[in-house]
Amino acid sequence: MRRRGWALPLRPLKKTYANRVILCGDAGGFVNPITGEGVYYAMRTGEIAAKVVTEALEVGSTDEAFLSQYQVEWKGDFWKELKTNILFRDFLLNRAESIMKTVSKDEKLMEMSVGTGLGWLSSHEYKWKLTRHYLWLLLKSYVEAT
Ligand SMILES: Cc1cc2nc3c(=O)[nH]c(=O)nc-3n(C[C@H](O)[C@H](O)[C@H](O)COP(=O)(O)OP(=O)(O)OC[C@H]3O[C@@H](n4cnc5c(N)ncnc54)[C@H](O)[C@@H]3O)c2cc1C
Repeated sequence: MRRRGWALPLRPLKKTYANRVILCGDAGGFVNPITGEGVYYAMRTGEIAAKVVTEALEVGSTDEAFLSQYQVEWKGDFWKELKTNILFRDFLLNRAESIMKTVSKDEKLMEMSVGTGLGWLSSHEYKWKLTRHYLWLLLKSYVEAT
């Protein structure tokens, strides 16, 4: 058998359902975009998929119109949090070096960055606190340098 590998998509696919198909976990791109962890999302999307498939079988309709409910449900469940992490990831990747320098100078910022990155703190809840603190630190270092 010929085996092939592929890099994980680091954000959910635009469409995670089709006729008689639902994509869960890595297959749907449900991975923490900062750490690459995906066990939580694999289990949660599996649970949501099981619920939607049960309902689909009960009403005898496994077409994509019915299965689209799966995407509605995972979006309602964790999309806000995941989307915030994707935005953070994109922002971080473009400015990695200067951000690391700034963050390493401040313990509170370091704690918030690591906490939201690794999922101990909610990035959705902390995004403005983190941004404000980061901007304040940038301003402070600018004033100190002039
Ligand atoms: C080295 C490594 C370390 C990781 N560490 C962490 C971590 O610490 N924490 C964390 O949250 N995540 C971690 N991850 C990511 C995590 O493992 C995945 O996000 C998670 O396992 C995804 O679950 P899944 O069910 O979507 O896919 P998988 O766990 O990959 O399950 C897919 C299953 O489908 C089977 N399969 C594939 N093709 C077929 C086929 N044609 N027919 C039948 N079966 C098939 C495979 O054999 C496999 O058993 C790590 C990943 C790697 C590679």
